[in-house]
Amino acid sequence: MKQRIVLLGPPASGKGTQAELLVSSFGIPHVSTGALLRVECANGTSVGKEADRWTSQGLLVPDELAIRLITIWIAEHGTKFLFDGFPRTVAQAESLDTALAALRAPLDLVIVLELGEEEICRRIASRLSCLHCGATFSCMLNSLKVGDMCLRCGEKLLRRTDDQPAAVEKRLESYRELTFPVIGYYERTAPELIHRVDASMESDAVFSEICELIRS
Ligand code: ADP
Repeated sequence: MKQRIVLLGPPASGKGTQAELLVSSFGIPHVSTGALLRVECANGTSVGKEADRWTSQGLLVPDELAIRLITIWIAEHGTKFLFDGFPRTVAQAESLDTALAALRAPLDLVIVLELGEEEICRRIASRLSCLHCGATFSCMLNSLKVGDMCLRCGEKLLRRTDDQPAAVEKRLESYRELTFPVIGYYERTAPELIHRVDASMESDAVFSEICELIRS
């Protein structure tokens, strides 16, 4: 079974949803750098305040900050992981490779969730998030609005600041310019590790494809 996995994909491609399903089926420790940053912001830490200057505008935080968060996470949790939202730049991918080589624990799977921009925008426009437990819901599918209770934990549902239209455009730009090349990086350096999955399918169908990749 694969144990060192990177989940790549544009915003709203379902990385968080799939990660949650994978954690409950396989128990692989999961970390989302976006979620780590949101916790720092909510707690008003200095890292959170620095990160908010970038994230609220839909820009990536500096590589050094993202790499620092992941390095601390690996030191605390070890070398079995499912990374969601990291690496997001080629520089981050290179430093992850270097860190894992030093630990003699190279990546064993890179999953790319593929989704067109029209569907990304449609999903984000209808997305409500719980900043308390991290759950997300489609307001159309679940007939919910901002301020309603989270269906999982009962806290208030909000629209993430970076889910506002101006920030979404910036996030798509960051994805095209900075994160998309990470796919090319793995195609060059570790083509046997990379697998693409059509993220426009129902999440159960996406999940079963990913399960096969993890078991193979
Ligand atoms: P999404 O994938 O829907 O954009 P995330 O929760 O993964 O949402 O990330 C939210 C924001 O956190 C990103 O837009 C970016 O500003 C910041 N972020 C998350 N991970 C990284 C990273 N590895 N490098 C730089 N910025 C990051």
